[in-house]
Amino acid sequence: MSRRRSRPRQKAPSASPALSPGAPCPCGLPASYSDCCGRFHRGRAAAPTAEALMRSRYSAFAVRDRAYLLRTWHPDTAPERLETDPETRWRRLEILGATGGSPFHTEGAVSFRAHWTERGREGVMEEHSRFVRHAGAWVYLDASGAP
Ligand SMILES: [Zn+2]
Repeated sequence: MSRRRSRPRQKAPSASPALSPGAPCPCGLPASYSDCCGRFHRGRAAAPTAEALMRSRYSAFAVRDRAYLLRTWHPDTAPERLETDPETRWRRLEILGATGGSPFHTEGAVSFRAHWTERGREGVMEEHSRFVRHAGAWVYLDASGAP
């Protein structure tokens, strides 16, 4: 995901929303955050597939782990800085489909819908994200919106 805003920067640093290690993972898999995407966020493991990376990046948006988002972004397309909107709550991820992206591929793509709420408004972002292997690890390359 690459949702960015051009809103004036807020002074208070945005702390991660409270998420205990035993909380359900934001990505929607039936596992705790620490056993699922939290492992990747802490650097204890690397996402083995493009879909796992996609899920972990969604979860990183949910917990506002900007460092993880930047280090899993291809250096050719990564922004210098990344702002996450503290008002946006990422509610649910739906994976619509994935091609390639297995441990045996070097490229992959994942289509998904990400449901969010912001100041009482609800919305859905639909995106087709492309991933490639870079230095052995899956990274996010770019995305196109819904056709
Ligand atoms: Zn997860």
